[in-house]
Amino acid sequence: EQRSDTHLSQLASVGQIAAGIAHEVKNPLTAVKGFLQLLNQEEKNEYLNIAQSELENALTTLNNLLQVSKPDLQEEEYQSIYLSEELEAILNLFQDKMYDISILTDFKDTDAMIYGMKNQFKKAFFNLIKNAIESIPGKGTIKITHTASENEVIVTIKDSGVGIPEDKLKLLGTPFFTTKENGTGMGLTQVFSVIYQHGGRINIVSKENQGTTFTIKVPKEHRLQKRGVRKLNLKFSKND
Ligand code: ADP
Ligand code: MG
Repeated sequence: EQRSDTHLSQLASVGQIAAGIAHEVKNPLTAVKGFLQLLNQEEKNEYLNIAQSELENALTTLNNLLQVSKPDLQEEEYQSIYLSEELEAILNLFQDKMYDISILTDFKDTDAMIYGMKNQFKKAFFNLIKNAIESIPGKGTIKITHTASENEVIVTIKDSGVGIPEDKLKLLGTPFFTTKENGTGMGLTQVFSVIYQHGGRINIVSKENQGTTFTIKVPKEHRLQKRGVRKLNLKFSKND
């Protein structure tokens, strides 16, 4: 299924509206947070503690949203990134949580590097691997590969999880779209945002009850894609 340009520009405006609201709401909440802090200094109060921590959660959500929908405001310096190294480091973070999931890696061309925002890439691959883990209810496998062609670095993340129903595929990446009880629906929004910003492409192949494969291709060299004129190359396919 090829996602249409109209749909993509609709998604972009959803993101822009969300960012606008986030920005407007953030300022008053930040003020309230400051006053709660002052109040709580005087008389330590259980209710104030709860109010403070809930406010903190709301502000974190808003900051995440602003970060993905206005990446040009959060620009990091570009640097060399060895994606295979970053992937290894992320897998180490998840190591102790995985008793029933085996991880297979096949890293080739590990000397291939891209140039870009390192922290944003780390976050994106963290989000993809976290989703893969969360898609597997019991025992299962996740296979991660890394290769390079002349111009691109290619990473695939394949899980043996629940898969994504066809009617949900087109919603992936929409801010707040989640099927999880405690999901934020911000993970893939961040992923799409950083990959597109670096001129990359995302391909998703999914089969219900069999699993999902994300293929990410990022050019080794590219010029920063400015918001608004960004060319979105997103392709969904259903079958292997
Ligand atoms: P969250 O993980 O907080 O729900 P994401 O943006 O990371 O938000 O993912 C959005 C939704 O996309 C998930 O709730 C899930 O339904 C679906 N999804 C993402 N990755 C996978 C995957 N690997 N397997 C199955 N479903 C997935
Ligand atoms: Mg997620």
